[in-house]
Amino acid sequence: MIVLVINAGSSSVKYQVFNAETKEVLAKGLVERIGMSGAILTHKPTDRKEVRLSGEILDHKMAIEYVVSILLSKNHGVIKDKSEIDAVGHRVVHGGEAFSSSVLISEEVMAEIRACIDYAPLHNPPNLKGINAVKSLLPDVPQVAVFDTAFHQKMPKYAFLYGLPYTLYRRHGIRRYGFHGTSHRFVSNRAAEIMGQPLENLKLITAHLGNGASISAIQNGRSVDTSMGFTPLEGLLMGTRCGDMDPAIILQIMHKEELTVNDANILMNKHSGLQGISGISSDMREIEEEYEESSRAKLAHDMFTYRLKKYIGAYAAAMGGVDGIVFTGGIGENSEMVRKHALEGLDYMGIELDEAKNKERLKEERDISAKNSQVRIMVIPTNEELVIALDTKRIVDESN
Ligand code: AMP
Repeated sequence: MIVLVINAGSSSVKYQVFNAETKEVLAKGLVERIGMSGAILTHKPTDRKEVRLSGEILDHKMAIEYVVSILLSKNHGVIKDKSEIDAVGHRVVHGGEAFSSSVLISEEVMAEIRACIDYAPLHNPPNLKGINAVKSLLPDVPQVAVFDTAFHQKMPKYAFLYGLPYTLYRRHGIRRYGFHGTSHRFVSNRAAEIMGQPLENLKLITAHLGNGASISAIQNGRSVDTSMGFTPLEGLLMGTRCGDMDPAIILQIMHKEELTVNDANILMNKHSGLQGISGISSDMREIEEEYEESSRAKLAHDMFTYRLKKYIGAYAAAMGGVDGIVFTGGIGENSEMVRKHALEGLDYMGIELDEAKNKERLKEERDISAKNSQVRIMVIPTNEELVIALDTKRIVDESN
């Protein structure tokens, strides 16, 4: 089964084409600057070199039309006819309380995604545009939605509610939803396979550390808590997001600095985190390059790893122990310094890193725990697109 995986953002569309039986990627690419001047399509067939094309791409429909035409093209294509696309899987950011797993897209499903726009105003509208574009270009092809929030939908109520009046949950859906669910699901499954134990018997902590960062407690295969909340702002320190803080601070800053709601939103989402603390960069590589020279870069890094360590302790307590810790995402997969600092001093919990293994610069899955560590520590590159392709195949197969 050939599955086209689509991740539609506000001005971009990322895609990958899979042979879902063999899990092979046939091609991948990205359309950028949709609706702006000088849109660019970067396309890479797995067995040939990358091509970059530029042109006017006014909207998501045109972008996906471009994608389909390059997939069919003589020199850069990977299929001969568009009928070879058996199914399309979409990353959808917010499924609210309506979806606890991936679903075949119908009019009702689209209405539910639309109903969640209030929760994810920047993400769900472009996700819907992607679905509509495919609907008009490939009307007979089944489409599947895979939600960032779905994996966290089984959290217990005491973990997902905030200490606000209960009526606000009822009236406005104010609760923890959690994000990066597809990634936490993928790496927890892989961790169980690496550990050679059923996921149902394990207590895992999975840390997805990229520009956005979240950590989850996964008990018996279920996400029982996660650090991102009503929006992706809560929890760990991130590239440009502040993560946890006293909510009264924002009221005070809005008052003192005369900020509008929009200003405050931009402050917390775009100018905080590693960027705001270091004054240097939101990029962990640059922070680490400056760690010895700049006290503010060091502070940003120390805040990042301190908060990570606090969450590891909290989630171990929440689950009554931990069998495995997984690092993933650009930082989790690549930064030996973040892993080392976050786990330092946790040997009393049976968490011991093998320093040499932690330093190895490999791109593959690996166990970096010391021989005597009671807790397995693993680095597992995430692969959300593969999860979307496989969910899409399973759901389309089941519906036939
Ligand atoms: P992502 O959002 O998952 O693509 O992750 C992006 C983050 O990963 C950025 O902060 C990068 O600086 C960070 N990153 C990538 N490679 C490295 C590396 N070798 N060392 C430290 N951080 C890295």
